[in-house]
Amino acid sequence: PYDVLIVGGGPAGAAAAIYAARKGIRTGLVAERFGGQVMDTVGIENFISVPYTEGPKLVANLEAHVQEYGVDIIRDQKAQALRRAQGIEVELASGATLTSRSVILATGARWRELNVPGEQEYKGRGVAYCPHCDGPFFKGKKVAVIGGGNSGIEAAIDLAGIVEQVTVLEFGESLRADAVLQKKAQSLANVEIITQAQTTAVVGDGNKVTGLTYLDRRDQSEHTLELAGIFVQIGLVPNTDWLQDSQVNLSKFGEIEVDSRGATSMAGVFAAGDVTNIPYKQIVISMGSGASAALGAFDYLIREA
Ligand code: FAD
Repeated sequence: PYDVLIVGGGPAGAAAAIYAARKGIRTGLVAERFGGQVMDTVGIENFISVPYTEGPKLVANLEAHVQEYGVDIIRDQKAQALRRAQGIEVELASGATLTSRSVILATGARWRELNVPGEQEYKGRGVAYCPHCDGPFFKGKKVAVIGGGNSGIEAAIDLAGIVEQVTVLEFGESLRADAVLQKKAQSLANVEIITQAQTTAVVGDGNKVTGLTYLDRRDQSEHTLELAGIFVQIGLVPNTDWLQDSQVNLSKFGEIEVDSRGATSMAGVFAAGDVTNIPYKQIVISMGSGASAALGAFDYLIREA
C-alpha cells in the first residue's frame, strides 16, 4: 500500500506528489491523462516567474520534476470508486484496486463546451474558456462572451477593460447574473448584450477565429459577428461523478468541499485544485492547494496509529 495516493495528474496532483514524496513517504499518482487541462492550453502568461510558456512544455517540466522523486506514476487509468476498507481503496476502471493510507483527490474540472462546428478546431486559436488566462491576448480587439450567468458577466466586465468591444450572447430571455453585475456591465460603453441568441458556429480562416454565427430565437433570423475571440462561459464541471457514492461531501455544484488544509469530510482523504470548492481555477492556485493537501495528508499520517 501507498502512504499517499494521488488521483489526478494535473498541476494540483503533480504539486501534491512532489510535496508528499519529499517527506520520504511512499507516493503513488494515478491519472487518466498526465498534465490535465494544461495539455489543452496553448500560451500561458500567468505562471509566476515564467513570463511565457506553452501547455505541453509546462507538462513536460511537471513530469520531469515529479520523476526526480521516484513517485510511482500509473498512467492512462481512470478511477471509478473510492471506499474505506483495509486503508482507503481506489478502484480503477480496469478492475484493479490501489490501496493507500491517505488519498489526495485532484481530478480537476472541464469547461462545458458549446458543441457547435468550429469550436474544437479553433480552441486555443480564438476560442477561450478563461478570461484571466487569455484576456490579454485580445487587447484592442473585438470578442464575444457566450453565457449571461455570473461567470459570463464577470468575464465581460473584466474583458471590457482590455479589449475594444465585448458582445455578450445569452441563450435565454434575460441574463442570469446577479443584479449588481448586470448593472455594472450595462454601464460600460463597450459592452453589448444580446439575449435569446443561440450560437450556431465558430467561424475562422483556417488559422484563427474570425467570428461566429448565431440564431435570434425571437424570429429565427441568422446573424454574423466579426470577432477575434470567443470566451465560452457556460459552466465549469468538476470531475466528481465517480465520487457520488463515496463518503466525500460535495457542494451543490459537485465540487469537493475542503478545509484550509485540503481535508475532505472523509478521514484521510484530501483534495486539491479545480475539483474543490476553492475559488478561482488557475494553475498557480491548483499547485498551491496541491502542496497544502500533501502537507495536510502528512500531518494526518504522523498522527495516525
Ligand atoms: P486538471 O488540470 O483538470 O487535471 C486533472 C487530472 O485528473 C488529469 O490528469 C486528469 O486526467 C485526471 N483525472 C480526471 N478524472 C480522473 C479519474 N476519474 N481517474 C483518474 N484521473 C482522473 N490556468 C492558468 O493559470 N493559466 C492559463 O493560461 C490557463 N489557460 C487555460 C486554458 C485552457 C484551454 C483551459 C481548459 C484551462 C486553462 N487554465 C489556465 C486553467 C488550468 O488549466 C486549471 O486551473 C488547472 O489545470 C487545474 O489543475 P488541476 O490539477 O486541479 O486539474
